[in-house]
Amino acid sequence: MTARPLLYADHNATTPLRPAARAAMLRALEEGGNPSSVHGPGRAARATLEAAREALAAALDARPDSVVFTSGATEGLHLAMESARAMGFGPVLVGAAEHDAVWAYAGVLFPDFETIPVDGDLVPDLGWLAERLGQLAGQRPLVILQAANNETGTVVPVGRAAALVRQQGGALICDAVQALGRIDPIGFAGATDWLVVSSHKIGGPPGAGAVIAAPGLIVGGPRAGGGQERGARPGTQNVPAIAGFAAAVTEACAPEAIRAWQALTGAERDAYEAMMLDGMPGARVMGAGALRLANTSCLAIPGWEAARQVMALDLEGAAISAGAACSSGKVKMSRALAAAGHPPDLAASAIRASFGWTTQAGDGARLASLHLAAARRARRLAA
Ligand code: PLP
Repeated sequence: MTARPLLYADHNATTPLRPAARAAMLRALEEGGNPSSVHGPGRAARATLEAAREALAAALDARPDSVVFTSGATEGLHLAMESARAMGFGPVLVGAAEHDAVWAYAGVLFPDFETIPVDGDLVPDLGWLAERLGQLAGQRPLVILQAANNETGTVVPVGRAAALVRQQGGALICDAVQALGRIDPIGFAGATDWLVVSSHKIGGPPGAGAVIAAPGLIVGGPRAGGGQERGARPGTQNVPAIAGFAAAVTEACAPEAIRAWQALTGAERDAYEAMMLDGMPGARVMGAGALRLANTSCLAIPGWEAARQVMALDLEGAAISAGAACSSGKVKMSRALAAAGHPPDLAASAIRASFGWTTQAGDGARLASLHLAAARRARRLAA
């Protein structure tokens, strides 16, 4: 990130590259080699790839042979869903606040999927889930839930959901993209059948991710090719990106690193919210009633459209986001907040500030000052 803004508070969209990840990528780029080649450079690339696999497995308390590298979480989630379908799991139950990477493809693969309702804080209704799973006794339901929500930071009780699913002989796909390096994965990593993670949310490069699943659970989708990743995901692996991913995981996922990240980002997030709530009567923190990721603040400011807030802060040199950003750069209304029962005008005014490893002490207060100044300017212009 070269044109780095004065204040970057959009870590849930993508997190600046960690120096350790950059160094690992440069080493792998210099090294070159195709990990499928049997000559020296190929073997060197293979060693880098397998070291990365071991690093990821160690961080998630998994076996190295359960790690399949992908181009990111979207592909990983699709591979998991395709595998579940190929194995005959169903009916399919999907959390109402899942990311589009799940939501859109679930509609393609499982047109009859059912929605697991969420409460106003985006917490899935586990009572509903238990009851529905009970009705599906004798079948092999597939449940898809995220470990933490990208918009509000709501932490989902995935461990409890996994126990319910297991009792009924079902399977669980967990989108752990926003949870990796942010909450202790012990509560859910081993309990899910397919765990999906992404590199660029923890300070690794974009374009790398992984599915962690027992080898028999990756059946593969419609793609066929050179047999890489033990046939699960054909195509030459992006070794430099994977090496950067592994370096970021090693740095970000150590228990003491997670605690330090939580302390740093939590202090700044809380300072930001306190100043905003004080200075903007009527503002509301979305997800405030639930356990949240320490770094995330989703703030609805009724009457001030989210896209305008983002643009106003961009002019000040601060980067935040409006609900869920989409790839076209356009801003759309948050489906997750709407599913949580919030009125469209409230959902349309929700912005997200998300702090991370580059956050400095004082950033929360600085961001709030810029945001409040932008609000005063907007009011003057409207008057
Ligand atoms: N799931 C969640 C919760 C996310 O926040 C994202 C990225 O925004 C994705 C999935 C998709 O990840 P990737 O960009 O690696 O495809």
